[in-house]
Amino acid sequence: MNILEAMATHDYEQVIAFQNRSTGLRGFLAVHDTTLGPALGGVRIRTYATEEDGLTDALRLSRAMTYKAAISGLPCGGGKTVILLDANLQREAAFEALGRMVEGLHGRYFCARDVGITDADLSAIARTTRFVAREPSPELGDVSEHTARGVWQGMRACLEWAGITGRARVAIQGVGSVGRWLARILREQHLELLVADADAARAAEVGRETGARVLPPQEILSAPCDVLAPCALGGVINAETVPRLQCKIVCGSANNILATLEDGDALARRDVIYAPDYLVNAGGLIRGAEFFLLGRADSSASIAALHKRTLRVLELARERGISTARAADELAEARLKKMKTFGDLTWEATGALSAPVCG
Ligand code: NAD
Repeated sequence: MNILEAMATHDYEQVIAFQNRSTGLRGFLAVHDTTLGPALGGVRIRTYATEEDGLTDALRLSRAMTYKAAISGLPCGGGKTVILLDANLQREAAFEALGRMVEGLHGRYFCARDVGITDADLSAIARTTRFVAREPSPELGDVSEHTARGVWQGMRACLEWAGITGRARVAIQGVGSVGRWLARILREQHLELLVADADAARAAEVGRETGARVLPPQEILSAPCDVLAPCALGGVINAETVPRLQCKIVCGSANNILATLEDGDALARRDVIYAPDYLVNAGGLIRGAEFFLLGRADSSASIAALHKRTLRVLELARERGISTARAADELAEARLKKMKTFGDLTWEATGALSAPVCG
């Protein structure tokens, strides 16, 4: 990959390739855009087939964070750290080394938990940097629950838009942290649930807890339902899966649900309503940003506003005859463009950085 060319295509501010030989730490930290405020974004650790796959993940995910913050009206930008998981990694020392690097960015980037990160990892990072969102904290609440509550708001908007008023059937792919919360919330709403997880024991447990019918993982994407809620990995809506879908709505928490923007067009052509992922999965970010940057005790009203924001995106898509994915991008880019015109009036001047962060 030609890194500078890739950065120029989507206007990335900074990409750091890091390695720390004594601990085995290797990876990439991408700061996509800090127009609206410090870049917020999780640290992800997993095995990647190639270095380039890890870099691509950091680039895609950090950009999605910028758009998520922009469309949610938050005073922050987008970043992401990807660590290449390796058998030689000395985990505790590696995360301390990562924290030192984050500290060296002086608050341009705040890190948090993402896929593969444990409480012990977050504690190690917090020993060497102030710029980490540690959890759990009773005041912050469970970030995954906030995310799931936001997904429900987006789903509610889509159901209304589609005119589905009866007992909707929702198929959840992945009942980990967010998917399990979503199942609980949907059960409270008396919806019919289908669930699947690569971890059969986990799926069975959620089935017992919520009364959901458990399906084998390979059947969930094409299960007849009103709503398909991808809550596992990205890229599940692609050229191969779109023709097989038997749902009216796609609305879930997974990041980068669409393999490509064109897959969003294909959904629109099939009259499947797509709730843009970074719009409806912003509940956790909204809570984190409001808690750490704005000192707010409660974010339930901001998360409930995702219902109205989703309707706005659905309306814009219809007005303009474009997919909802493109409509969401337009709204997020419009906010960024508007803020860029303020020139020197940056977030540093607004004092966002003076807010205390957990240490
Ligand atoms: P998680 O790791 O807790 O849960 C993911 C679940 O998906 C696991 O139970 C896993 O076994 C299952 N899974 C993996 N592959 C599967 C497959 N092919 N079929 C069925 N199940 C499969 O992760 P999470 O924190 O719940 O996040 C879920 C998704 O939502 C991720 O894409 C994440 O990036 C995104 N997201 C999470 C949050 C949050 O607050 N945690 C916020 C925004 C976006």
